Formats: sequence, structure tokens, C-alpha cells
Amino acid sequence: MRYISTRGQAPVLDFPGVLLAGLATDGGLYLPETWPVLSPSEFRALRGLPYPDLAARVILPFIGDALSYETLLGMTRASYAGFAHQAIVPLVQLDTDLWTQELFHGPTLAFKDMAMQLIGRLFDHVLTERGARVTIVAATSGDTGSAAIEAMANRACVDIAVLHPEGRTSDVQRRQMTTVHAPNVLNLAVAGTFDDCQDQVKAMFNDAPFRGDMRLSAVNSINWARILGQIPYYVAASLALGAPDREVAFAVPTGNFGNVLAAYAARRMGLPIARLVVAANRNDILARFLDANDMSARAVEPSLSPSMDIQVSSNFERLLFELLGRDAAATARTMTAFRATGRMDVPDAAWRDATALFQGHRLDDSGTLAAIRDLHATTGYLADPHSIIGIEGGRAHAIPGVPMVAMATAHPAKFPDAMEQATGSRPPLPPHLADLYERAETFSRVPNSLEAIEAEVRALVLRNAA
Ligand SMILES: *Cc1c(COP(=O)(O)O)cnc(C)c1O
Repeated sequence: MRYISTRGQAPVLDFPGVLLAGLATDGGLYLPETWPVLSPSEFRALRGLPYPDLAARVILPFIGDALSYETLLGMTRASYAGFAHQAIVPLVQLDTDLWTQELFHGPTLAFKDMAMQLIGRLFDHVLTERGARVTIVAATSGDTGSAAIEAMANRACVDIAVLHPEGRTSDVQRRQMTTVHAPNVLNLAVAGTFDDCQDQVKAMFNDAPFRGDMRLSAVNSINWARILGQIPYYVAASLALGAPDREVAFAVPTGNFGNVLAAYAARRMGLPIARLVVAANRNDILARFLDANDMSARAVEPSLSPSMDIQVSSNFERLLFELLGRDAAATARTMTAFRATGRMDVPDAAWRDATALFQGHRLDDSGTLAAIRDLHATTGYLADPHSIIGIEGGRAHAIPGVPMVAMATAHPAKFPDAMEQATGSRPPLPPHLADLYERAETFSRVPNSLEAIEAEVRALVLRNAA
């Protein structure tokens, strides 16, 4: 399997190359040169498989010869062995033709574990083969950092440094990062905002000698392997609800457009997915695009669903490339103009194509709280402030007779303040995290200075190289 950049000017790579590269050198994002397609009978043959087996079969065609099926199966089994639910990604029925798929039974209680657990093992495998070592640096406002640390802790060939804005993440989110004690993990509490942390990560990547010496790498959601690790649960849900012999639809709480892009990929593999609902909070650029072809970035506003507080959804570029008929030059032009003006000019025909499959939905904070309360009162089910936005989007855009599956992206215990505001009580942490508040924390405080941050990262790498 070969991968091409959405901007057409970067080298064509194989899967291990794409895994380690993350972003393409031309600023574009990698996509498979052709989408692997399964026939209806091949899909039917996956019905009833344990999730790790199904995941390995769905992922294998995207990897080509880089890994054998047995090696990949070993990785998917190990990735999901620690999940707190036997089904890994259980479906829960909420209403006639409305389901939710719980993606939060992993170690950090958010769906990012689904891909990140696999990526940690893929990195180790590819790097061991090459006799190489990398340093992952990441900025986080919450879920990404903890999922990356859980996935990379104690891996043989990886060091990881995560920058979080001191005092500006939730207690649960910070403790999930700082209570992991491993020699290859460095938590940096930066005196600054999330944007400062992100700028410092960019500055480290732009410091060419440092980037080379430390062999910096990234696992943010522009990495194709993140999308790849999210395709199998769409396949699992579709098969359970009757596909490929029946249409299905999904509603996805969206930030960087990575999760919903995985659903799009499942459709390109041949599943009869009739609709994809792109559900947003008040930061609704994608909903405005789908409603009225208005893709204009506004200032990010904080909400009760912080992992969706995003205005420029980086993975949208992958869909844009497809909507423009895979015209890399046109994609590059459109993205460059968007960076410069904050407005994306999508041709009307391409926008119409998008709306044939995607529908936008928007729910503000008061709607979020009311919907959590209502769902709890009518069904007893607790949905977190991200997942409820998908559930409401799924209700609003249901197609009669077609099962709608809303993706549940976080465990309600991860957002106890919002849950208490909505329902009057704080959901308990699951058993494996019940003592989170008693665990010791390890992190280094650093000023918002590139020099100080690079010194910490260099010390981590030197310590582990010895
Ligand atoms: C990251 C995240 C999202 C957004 O997912 P994208 O792939 O960025 O669209 C939604 N909900 C939760 C809980 C998340 O952690």
C-alpha cells in the first residue's frame, strides 16, 4: 500500500514511512493511494469476530507487506487487552433505531485510546526493525496527552514529552498524565496557555538541529495511523446492525475531524453508510460549512466539551482532497488561501457532494446540560458532554428505518463538574482509576521558554540513550 500527500509535492511513502513521518513534507496529509474495498461477502465473514480479530482484518489492507496478519493480530490483542469491557466497543440501544457505541473503556477513558494503544505498538515494531529511536513531543489541553502517555510509557524505542498548560487542564486530565511513572515519560507543566504549549512544540519542530538530534516525531491526529486505528469500530457497529445488507448512519462529536474521517474511510471500504452527522459545540465551523458552505474560522470559545473546542479542523483537508476529485494542486491552493484569509473557498459542486453524505449539527452549553439531564431522566443513561452532542445530532438527523449510531467518545467520570451541573451528582471513576486522586504526581514546571523546554527534553533523551 502506497500513501500520497493531499498537496502532491511530498514523497510517496509506505505505511511505516507514513507512521513515522506524521505530516507530509509539503504540509499536506497522507492518504492511501487507493481505498481498499471489501465485497459484501468479505464483510459478512467478519460478523461475530472478537474485536481485536476484526480490527486486524480491517487494518491489514492499509498496511500492505509491512506487517504479517499474525504480527498485527498480536498487536490488536495486546492493545485492547486492558479495556474495561469484554466487547471493547459495546453498543447500547437508547431508542428505536438510536444506539450509542461506547469508545471509552480504555485506560484514559476517551476514544483516543482506540488508536493510540495500537500506535505505541506500531512505533516500537517499526523502530526496532530499523534499530532506531524517536522522541515524541506533544502539546495537550487534555485527552490527547494522557492517551499518548498511556500508549508510550515503557516502550523500548520511544521517549515522550508532553507539554500541558499549568493549572489549565482538569484535575482528572492532569492526573492521568502525571501519575504515570516511567523512565521514558516527561510531563512539562508550562507557565502559559494551551496555545503557548502548541507554539513551543511547533518551535521545537522548526529548530532543525534540535529536531534532528532528538529525532522528533508526532502522534497528533494528522498522523494517518490515528485515523486507521479508528476505522474498525465503524465496521463492527455496522455489521452488528445489519450491514452490508442494510444501511446504517453515524453521528460523531467532532473537533479535528479525525473520528468522522475514519467513518468516511469505512464507507469508502464498501459499507453502506447512508449519513454521517458532524456534531459540534458552539465552535461550529464544520456545521456552518455543511449548512451554508460557510467555512470561516472564528475565535475558539471554551465550552463544556473542551476536546471539541477547535476552529480549524486539520483532518478536513483529507475530505477536501476527495471532494476536489483528488486534485492536489487545487487542495494546496485552497489550504494556503484558508491559512491566509481564515475563509475556505469550496466550489459549490464539491460542497453539494459533501452535503449528500454529511449533515452538520450544533449544540451549545445550555443545550448540552439539558440533553444530558433529559437522557438520564428518560433512560438512566449517563452521556458525557461530548457524547451527548453526538446523540442529539443523531436524533435530529435520523433517517427513518436506518439505525443511527452516536459515537460515545468519553466516559462521564472524566467531566464530573459538567455532569454534576446537569444531573446533580458526580459519576464515580471506574475501578482501575478509583485511586487516581491518591496517586503521586511527577512533572517539571518550566517557564514558557523554548530554551528551558528544549533543555528538559534533551536531558530526557540523554538519560535514556545511556
Ligand atoms: C478528541 C475528542 C473529540 C474530537 O475528535 P476528533 O477526532 O478530533 O474530531 C471528541 N470527543 C472527545 C472526548 C475527544 O477526546
